[in-house]
Amino acid sequence: QRRTLIAGNWKMNGSLSANSALLGELSGASIASACEVLVCVPFVYIPQCEVFLAKTQIAFGAQDVSPHQSGAYTGEISPAMLADFSCKYAIVGHSERRAYHHESNELVAQKALQSLRSNIYPIVCVGETLEQREAGKTNEVVVAQLQAVMDVLDEGALARIVVAYEPVWAIGTGKTATPEMAQDVHAVLRKTLAVRSDFAAEKVRILYGGSMKPENAKELLAMPDIDGGLIGGASLKAVDFLSIVAAA
Ligand code: 13P
Repeated sequence: QRRTLIAGNWKMNGSLSANSALLGELSGASIASACEVLVCVPFVYIPQCEVFLAKTQIAFGAQDVSPHQSGAYTGEISPAMLADFSCKYAIVGHSERRAYHHESNELVAQKALQSLRSNIYPIVCVGETLEQREAGKTNEVVVAQLQAVMDVLDEGALARIVVAYEPVWAIGTGKTATPEMAQDVHAVLRKTLAVRSDFAAEKVRILYGGSMKPENAKELLAMPDIDGGLIGGASLKAVDFLSIVAAA
């Protein structure tokens, strides 16, 4: 019932010319899969996506967004500005932003709330570090990260978010969580949503991210609570990204 979402996160990669090659390949491909396909790109390339992806089934999104709608916030991009383009999604709380920009659970929650006010769907990232996993704190960490977002949203808004479980130790390392390890955490996240709303728990897609690639996508996506993927490195090559889409 939940439509699978395969989302690329380009991170800070690309250039006008590299993107036009990649977007050209993606938009020229015939996508047989029923899944939703998305690329999340650096802000400055959003207008380029609007041009390249206009008549395709591929959506585009941002990798971050301001928790404010307008005003004296130098250097920030508001959800309303994203909505000026056909931008549909914004990643919020990616572990790289939590680590390098000290984003708190509360800040991430505000970003999710404000995004929804402009009809931008937030992709809320959660995930534990290796140290936290080894200390047996995985569930506690991801539940606290999700709970902060749940605390600021009503039931209707909650049903419109996307969650991405990205174990920090699996990002860009080539180490993937096994399908069973990921499924365990996804099930905990869905249960957390269900405490608040069965409706939202049924609706919300929970993506897995962390070294997802063509070789492991199928087995991860086969798990009952894994509703898609958030793909970093493998989203930069059209053949790899498209073969993950084909596996969905
Ligand atoms: P990799 O797929 O490169 O491990 O990155 C995952 C990620 O952080 C996606 O947001």
